[in-house]
Formats: sequence, C-alpha cells, structure tokens
Amino acid sequence: MNTAIVGGGVSGLSAAYFLLKRGHKVTVFERDEELGGLASSFDFGGASIEKYYHFICLGDDELVDLCSEVGLAQKLFWRATKMSFLYNGKLYPFGTPMDLLFFKPVSLLGRIRFGFNIIYARSLSYWQALENESAETWLTRHIGKQAYDVIWRPLLQIKFGEYASEVAASWMWHRIHRVAKSRKKSLQREELGYLVGGTKMLVDTLAERIRQMGGKIRTSSQVTSVVVKDDAVAGIRCGGEMIDFDGVISTVALPLACRLLPKECAQYRATLARVKFIGVVCMILKLAKPLTDSFWVNINDPRIPFNGIIEYTNLNPRPDLGGSKIAYIPFYLVTSSARYSYKDADLMQEYSKALRQVAPDFNPGWIQDWRVFRDPYAQAICTTNFSQIVPDQVAPVKGFYLIDSTQLYPSDRTISGMIGLANKLADTIGEA
Ligand SMILES: Cc1cc2nc3c(=O)[nH]c(=O)nc-3n(C[C@H](O)[C@H](O)[C@H](O)COP(=O)(O)OP(=O)(O)OC[C@H]3O[C@@H](n4cnc5c(N)ncnc54)[C@H](O)[C@@H]3O)c2cc1C
Repeated sequence: MNTAIVGGGVSGLSAAYFLLKRGHKVTVFERDEELGGLASSFDFGGASIEKYYHFICLGDDELVDLCSEVGLAQKLFWRATKMSFLYNGKLYPFGTPMDLLFFKPVSLLGRIRFGFNIIYARSLSYWQALENESAETWLTRHIGKQAYDVIWRPLLQIKFGEYASEVAASWMWHRIHRVAKSRKKSLQREELGYLVGGTKMLVDTLAERIRQMGGKIRTSSQVTSVVVKDDAVAGIRCGGEMIDFDGVISTVALPLACRLLPKECAQYRATLARVKFIGVVCMILKLAKPLTDSFWVNINDPRIPFNGIIEYTNLNPRPDLGGSKIAYIPFYLVTSSARYSYKDADLMQEYSKALRQVAPDFNPGWIQDWRVFRDPYAQAICTTNFSQIVPDQVAPVKGFYLIDSTQLYPSDRTISGMIGLANKLADTIGEA
C-alpha cells in the first residue's frame, strides 16, 4: 500500500516508521518547514528548545520502547522532581505525601481525603464508571469542596480554562493515575524523564530512520484536500498537484482533518466536528536565575493571571545554556477569547509583574530572552460521556485513517500515547 501521512509531528513520523517496518510505501507531508508539530523546537539564542514543555512519566512505555528501538535509550534520563503550590502568596512544597500533610491552606480532613483519593485513583482501573459525571462532582464528593477549590480547580483550569467544570471524572482519574504511577514508592517524589536534547532528538532520529528505510518526507508541504472517488481514497492535493495514494492517514487536529475531506463526506465530517478544542498560549522565558527549585509550580492566587509555571531546567539542566534557566507559562483558553490574541508584549508586561509574586526577588532584568507560542487545537475538551464521540482510527471512507489524541481517552494526550496509537494503526493496516 502506498500511503500519504498528513502531518510530520510525533504521530505522523511514528506511523511512517511502523508502516515502513511492515513493508509499506509512505510519504509524510508536513505543512511547516520543521518537523515535530507540538513537539517541535526552535532556536532560542543558539540553543534548540522545545516550543512547549514535555516530560515523560514512568508508565510511558511506548515512548521508552521506541527510544530503545531507535538507539536513544542512552539519551533518556530520569530525575526525582519537586513540585510546589503557590497559594495566596506563599509557596508550599507539594511533591510528597509528607508535603501534603503540612499543606495548611486545606483543612487536615481535606488533606487526608485528598491523599486517599490519590491512592484510590492509583489502584482504580475501571474508569467507565466515572464517565458520566464531572471531575468537579467526583472530586468534591471524595475530597470536599474546600480541597477541590484550593487544589484541583486551578489545575483543571490550567488545562481546560473556562471548561474546567465540564471535564469528565474519567479524564481526571487518568491524569491522577498516570502521575501517581510515576512514583516508584508512594512516599517518594515523582520521577519524571526527559531526552537529552529534548523531543527533537526523537523527531530527528525517526526522520533519519524513515529516509533510510525508503520513506519520503516533504516539509513545507501543506495538504489542501483528500481526494475521494466512489467512497474510497484516491490521493491528496498538495501545492496544486494531485498525487495518487491508496491510503491517507491524517494526524492533524480533527477540525483540520474535517477541512481536508470533500463535501461527499459531510456526514463523517459532522461526526468529527462534535469534538471541541481549546487553544494554548505559552510563554517561554530564558532567565538568568531560577524562579523556584521546583519543576512544576501550581498557582492559585487571584493576583496572578496564570495557573502554573513549568521550570524545565529543574528537570533537564541543559548544560548547553551556559547557566540560563528555561521556564514555560502555559495558559489554555478558547481561541475566540480576546486573551488568545493579546499582543506578546502586553502578555510579557502582565506576566513579568506577576512573577514577583512567585519569586519575591525576581526582577525583569533576569529575563534574557522570551517568546510566545500559540496553538489553536492544543487540547480536546473531554466532557462527560466523551467516549461516545471519540472517532475510530478506521474511517467510513475506504482508505482513510485517523490518528488523533482523543483516541487516547481517558488518557491525556502524550507523546507516548500517540506513538502507541500509530503502532496500533500500523497493526490494523497489517503487512504490505
Ligand atoms: C503545551 C503542551 C504541553 C505538552 N506537554 C506534554 C508532556 O509533558 N508530555 C507528553 O508526553 N506530551 C505533552 N504534550 C502533548 C504532545 O505534544 C502531543 O501529544 C504530541 O506532540 C502530538 O503529536 P501529533 O503528531 O499527534 O500532533 P501534532 O504535533 O499537532 O502534529 C500535527 C502536524 O500536522 C501538521 N499539519 C497540520 N495541517 C497540515 C496539513 N494540511 N498538511 C500537512 N501538515 C499539516 C502540523 O504542522 C503538525 O506538525 C503537550 C502538548 C502541549 C500543547
């Protein structure tokens, strides 16, 4: 089978690699100049840095296995990380059960119930029972309203913005479950992983392997439509040219996949359009000094216009940065919100004022460089009974396939999960 893969992110490259291993012919089409999509990097004053932060959890087996397979096992490192919680101007350690026990903003009973909920979520595997209630209802019932408002509400807001209260309990369960599993022992800190050189290392290695195995990769090549004849895929259009293919795998966000399909597929397009997304605005800072000693700082403070900071160099020290530190400030929101299109300079002014609340001795002179990246489809909004609208990998249009993060539900979108989906689809398509 000769297959076109739309999108040169982790999913597209993994799908190409797994199909080549099964003897297929593939061409990857990537709209941007660079490969990697959400996991791509940029030149940040001479160092290659990921546009968005990426960490690896202990259970991310598909990623770990693929790294071993393509010779990157030596580049994968693990580290016990610190987590903090900034509540009303005070920074509390928040990475271990002992930290939780001393987390004063929540009552002692609330803290105990919170701890029990983590233990329960870690051991639970039948998530279907949680599908039809919201995370807010589930968590409030388990840990009480005060603990929910102080701890989980801001965390849900980091990821789902104004939709936080509509997110399904099953999604929340998986999020707690995945991170809890990243602790080898329950009293220890989480151990998180990173690739030396970032995810770019995996992206570049996969691209190299694909070319060595005879696959083609075309960057700066936007697919404008999928050509369908008699209910079956006939090829794609790219740069005004029609190119014949037996199959097409879309790895682009569902709203973009809808636009690629012709009018004849209106019914199928309507099913895909049921999934709604929110975007992300993510500021990345290069700093002369660290803000904290934590990898992740959750924030619940009305004076601060964001809900978290990820200090990447507290996980991956990056000696090539000459001592500079990297911090990400993500903010998820609908793209129609005025804030999504705020000028970068206005965001910077607002954020740099707020950073004084995080690190009291911070001054703007610490900022050596900064950028803002936006993506309109950063996260599908996993509302209750979400499993009913998750699209299959095999579409009703013959020869058209989808790899989409929603297929990981109730799991959150992860690089490891996307690699797993790519491998699963290659299995479904089978040997050439
Ligand atoms: C802020 C943020 C933080 C994250 N943190 C983590 C983390 O810590 N750990 C983790 O495991 N995961 C994390 N993720 C998730 C991870 O980045 C994604 O799961 C993964 O990168 C998705 O890869 P993909 O290939 O499926 O999609 P994408 O990366 O979106 O790739 C799709 C590609 O398709 C291209 N494209 C679009 N339209 C066309 C077209 N018409 N023609 C050709 N090409 C097209 C795009 O340019 C893009 O390169 C994070 C994501 C975000 C947004």
